[in-house]
Order: sequence, then structure tokens, then C-alpha cells
Amino acid sequence: MNLVEIIDHYASVCPDRIVHSYRGSSLTYLQLKERSDALASYLIDTYGEDKTPIVVFGHKQHEMLICFLACVKSGHAYIPIDESLPVQRIRDIIESSRTKLVLEVSGLGSETAEGEFHVLSGNEMNSRIEGYLGKKPSVESQVQKEETYYIIYTSGSTGKPKGVQITLSNLESFVGWGLGLCSLAGTGEVFLNQAPFSFDLSVMDLYLALASGSTLYSIDKTMIANPKELFAFFRQSGVSVWVSTPSFAEMCLADSGFNEELLPALKVLLFCGETLSNNCARKLYQRFSDVKVINSYGPTEATVAVTALHVDREMCEIIEPLPVGYVKNDCRILIVDPEGVPVAEGDRGEIVIAGESVSPGYYRNQEMTAKAFSIRTIDWTGHSKTVRTYRTGDEGYLKEGLLYYSGRIDFQIKLNGFRIELEDIENNLRKLEFIENAVVLPIRKEDKVQYLTAVAVLNRKLEQKEFETVLFIKNELKKYLPEYMIPRKIVLRESIPMTVNGKINRAKLLEEIK
Ligand code: AMP
Repeated sequence: MNLVEIIDHYASVCPDRIVHSYRGSSLTYLQLKERSDALASYLIDTYGEDKTPIVVFGHKQHEMLICFLACVKSGHAYIPIDESLPVQRIRDIIESSRTKLVLEVSGLGSETAEGEFHVLSGNEMNSRIEGYLGKKPSVESQVQKEETYYIIYTSGSTGKPKGVQITLSNLESFVGWGLGLCSLAGTGEVFLNQAPFSFDLSVMDLYLALASGSTLYSIDKTMIANPKELFAFFRQSGVSVWVSTPSFAEMCLADSGFNEELLPALKVLLFCGETLSNNCARKLYQRFSDVKVINSYGPTEATVAVTALHVDREMCEIIEPLPVGYVKNDCRILIVDPEGVPVAEGDRGEIVIAGESVSPGYYRNQEMTAKAFSIRTIDWTGHSKTVRTYRTGDEGYLKEGLLYYSGRIDFQIKLNGFRIELEDIENNLRKLEFIENAVVLPIRKEDKVQYLTAVAVLNRKLEQKEFETVLFIKNELKKYLPEYMIPRKIVLRESIPMTVNGKINRAKLLEEIK
């Protein structure tokens, strides 16, 4: 059985089991199968052999899961877009994907809904589903192993997001390994879904839950902004597998009520996406007496995560920084120097991922694909193997088979768990007609980015006070970038210091603005 068949199979063995729980409403495995089959049948009738990817626009509604499965059952990759993105960003993604259809789970808004594509509104979708109930798409119509299953757009250094294509094979390889990690195959757990579906961290909870006949318990951005409401939902959630960024766990830990009384069923905490500090892991073990903390590492381009390990209580005390784990067995980690040559064990270098998890590349973006992806013949435990590889831009080292992460070699950062290319913000700032130049600096405390400061040079004097200009810049930027990418501080300056090679002197600038 492939992944989609496994998910469908739960509709026969446990039809009434809840697959998705959101704000007190639930969707069963049977409903998920019936509705996704119906929508897929409509898509097959309407689009036939045309397998252009389909955008699914929304947040945490049940329909998101129904649409994802309907797309892949009808042979289309899906592109999840979260409703929180600004209009221009949504338009950039829709344009670059050249999609012909947007499934509108949340309202798109009239500014976004216009273009060379069709929008199927929530109501229309429901009536198509009702009309096709009982129809079953054939297995041959589904996305096949080496075809793209989903495309997730992430921050791109050019100022436009880039779409990472993940195949069914990539995803199946991740799911098989992920279930083994938590020793959870088929046990009917409750997985926490914190990240929006447009981030690949959500793939971890979504597909580990669905592939094991478990329940996905979604929380949304309104709950996250309101801890009282969030904790009330936690209390009734029954969450047994926690999946989040360490930042989100740290936010919860700041409240002493975050403990095993709140989440008595909790067994496993799975982290990915940014550094898990010893302190955070230690605190989790203090609050939850009988849990397993797992640290995992990987980029969207290598399907969520490729290394992991159980960070036990003892490890939290004696190994700092914590390792990010052992590589899954159908992948390899290479540590290379700037020329791409592997370095000696224990030496630092760029982390290159090779093997089954690696994406075929960025969608409709050969230039970026060629920069980061390649096919290489590498040593594979005694023999050689030709595999896809991805240069992560991460720095790290291997010690006794364990990978350690030590930072970035470029201008990508993580802020509160969000992946951001600083050049993405800079390029969007430079688009504003009154800005001559701009630099964005991450402000760190103990190695963790706390917030962003943008330094901007204007090309003319504006007839307003400085704070008004700063506010204006922020508001302009919000038209192009998601909220989490808006710098907290904006400093206006006459010029930006340069190095002798004519590059922006970021170190000096950081000193100067302190
Ligand atoms: P994303 O594509 O959003 O998952 O971000 C991938 C990037 O997050 C990686 O390239 C790393 O820079 C960072 N990252 C992922 N997992 C970890 C981890 N366990 N520890 C430190 N950094 C991580």
C-alpha cells in the first residue's frame, strides 16, 4: 500500500476514529476518505490529463486535509498557502506556480482572486463534493512515486519565495522513518499540529498522524496569541505526541501551568526546525516526568527531517550543544569544505544531505535548483551510489555518527521557528521607491535570534518625523511580507559602512546600531 492507500484504509478499519480535531469540531477517517474521493473525482472530470499543481488556501480547517488528499488522489501536487500571508506574497506564489485552480478554504479576498486561474469557493467545493459522493478515483489517477506530492514555498533570497517540490517517494521515506522514531506505528495517538500547513514542520504531525491512524489536533494563530485560550484547548486535547519548534515549547514553558497536569497523556515531544537548547530540554523533563524528547534536523528541501535522536535526561546535562541526531538509513550526511570536498571527521564544514529524502528541486526555478541540488556518486557504506544531494547552507560536524549543527554560512536565519532569508526582506525594502539601500541584521542573545533590525538609507528627505517614516516603512513592507518577517526596529541612516572589498560591513553596522 502506498501512503494514500494506508490513510484510506483507516476509513475501513476504524471509520469513526477522529482524524482531525479543530476548535471542538471533528472529522472522521470515513468522512475524510469519502469527501476527498468525491472532490478528487470532480477534479479528474474537470482537469483530465492536466496535472498542474493546485493551490489550497486556508488555515487549519478540516477542508485543508480533504483538499490535500483530493489533489493527490487526482494526480495533482498541492501547494498549501496560509491565510496569514499578505496579498502580494500570495500573488507571487500563485504566479510562480502557474496554477489553474485555487481551492478556497478561507476567503482569498477580491485583490488576490483575480488572475488566469479559477477559484473554487468553499460553498462551490461543498456542492461539488455532494454531487460526487460515492465516486472513487482510481489508484492510477493518483500522484505516482516520483511525482510531486506537495510544493511548499519558503523564503527566497531574491525577494520572492521559492517552491520546494516533494515527491510521494520523499514523503513515504520520511513517514516510514518518522513512525519508527517515536515507535508509534498504528497506535491511535493524538498529534499536536502547531505549524500552519504551509510550513514543512506541519508535514511531520500531519502525515505521522494520518499514516498511523491517529488524530491530528490543530491549534491556530488566534489561540497561540491568547495563552489562556490555548491552555484551555490543551487541557481537553489529549495530545500524546507534541510536534513543534523549540521556540513554541519555550513560549509555553514560560507559563508554569505548562506541565503534566495540563497534558497528562503526553509521551513524546518531537522538535525540529531550530536549535533545541539544553535548558529547554531540561525544563521539559522537569515539567513532564514520563516523556521522551526527540531532537531532529532537516530543511524543507530534504522533507522535514533527516537526522534525529532521543535526547535523554543525562544527555541534557552532559552534552552541550545537543547533537541533532543520527541520519536516517536511506540518507547520508556529508560535511564538505567550500570546494565541496569532504572534510575529516570532527571538522566543521557545510552539511550536504544525500539520498531518498532530497527533493528533485525548486518548482520552475532551474537557476536556484542548480545552485543547491546535484546528482553525485558517493560512498555508501563500502560501495558507491548515485544519489540526489542538497547543499543546506548549514554548518556542522559529525562525531561518532552524530551530527552537530553549528550555524549558517549565509544570511538565512530562524526567528521564533520561522525560516527567513534576510536578503528576502532587504530586497523587498529596496523595492520601496524612497529607499536607497537597506540591510537587515539579526539581533542575537546567547546565539538565538531575538528580533530583526533593519537599517535603511532613504534617497530623499521625507516631510515627516522619523517615527512616522519608520511606521510607514513597516506598513509598506507588510504588503509584501508576512508579519513574522517585519523587522521590529528600523533605523534610518545616511550611509551603510562597507568593507574594503566593497561588501556591506554587517559586523561594523551591528556595532554601530547597538
Ligand atoms: P525549514 O526548511 O524551515 O525546516 O528550515 C531548515 C533549517 O532550519 C535548517 O537548514 C537549519 O538551519 C534549521 N534547523 C532545522 N532543524 C534544526 C535543529 N534541530 N537544530 C538547529 N537548526 C535546525
